[in-house]
Amino acid sequence: MMKTLRLDNEQAENAFRAIADDYTVVAPKRCAGRGRFSDTDLTTYETVESLGEIEFSAKTYFSAKSVLLPIREVMFSFNRGEAEEVRTSMPPTIVFLRACDIHALAVLDAMFLEHGGREDCYYARRRENMICFLLECPGPFDECFCVSMGTSRTKDYAVFIRPEAEGYAAEIMDDRFERYFPFGDRAHVAPRFSEEDPIPVALPRHVEASLFADASWKEYSQRCIACGRCNTSCPTCTCFTVQDIPAADDRDSPTRQRIWSSCQVKDFSLLAGNHDFRLAHGDKMRYRVLHKITDFAKTFGLPMCVGCGRCDIVCPEYISMRKCIETINTICRRGAEVG
Ligand code: SF4
Ligand code: SF4
Repeated sequence: MMKTLRLDNEQAENAFRAIADDYTVVAPKRCAGRGRFSDTDLTTYETVESLGEIEFSAKTYFSAKSVLLPIREVMFSFNRGEAEEVRTSMPPTIVFLRACDIHALAVLDAMFLEHGGREDCYYARRRENMICFLLECPGPFDECFCVSMGTSRTKDYAVFIRPEAEGYAAEIMDDRFERYFPFGDRAHVAPRFSEEDPIPVALPRHVEASLFADASWKEYSQRCIACGRCNTSCPTCTCFTVQDIPAADDRDSPTRQRIWSSCQVKDFSLLAGNHDFRLAHGDKMRYRVLHKITDFAKTFGLPMCVGCGRCDIVCPEYISMRKCIETINTICRRGAEVG
């Protein structure tokens, strides 16, 4: 049964420390001097051991997807030609996520638990040990369009905790966590969700064939430097490459590893016979954006983009997903009028 409380700082820290004794807790943390420049900080997902370490109000440039999908993961080891599966495991782990990032999990689940009718065992083992705690947004961040994407609200979390002027407010939705909160005053507590995007976005209802040859993509070819940051920051990008990496001290015993990749980077779409059908950076952009807003939905019934706006923030060329969607809308409208 749901329980809602107000706790003073000490009560909240005691509850948190008891939870952290039983679970690994991953949450946004401000890391001094790790930002883009030496005198700037980085807010990023890290393991935390106290509530005071959590950065509740800033946005993370990178999502928490590496908890479920490590940047580099060993799948098999080979011992003189004999393959042996490496059984990965993850201790029970709590991750503090905003509503859009909780929705992003549905996309990852579709990719790794449903796609092709088979579960990805590496992902599945981690996913069953992951629990979401909700982070409230202090208001929409400038680049957000989660309301437009229908991902600004959620009920899919175990516990919600909000820092207040004096202490914390907590909503415990999952009975397993009630025992960690034996103290505190009963109070009405409910998370506040974003109601409006700074700039709303509408997805195209129909993609016109004229879109593919439109000159706008040439402009993106000139601007995009194919760095792949838009993919690595995205909570729903899942592409990886598979490589056999020799052991440093024994070249006959390599490991097979999957490593994050990106549809924007060189050679991602290179096929056997040296055929690469998406060479121009603008063509790669078109593929990425359409996959995010229309193509994935044709298979799984939900758009891949959750409107978190991270790709806009991290792009060194200031290329905006939101503006790209607007461009697609304009091209499609123009095409429909001509047609
Ligand atoms: S806004 Fe960008 S980073 Fe966020 S889900 Fe959409 S494509 Fe990914
Ligand atoms: S982050 Fe920007 S420059 Fe880098 S690949 Fe993505 S769109 Fe291109």
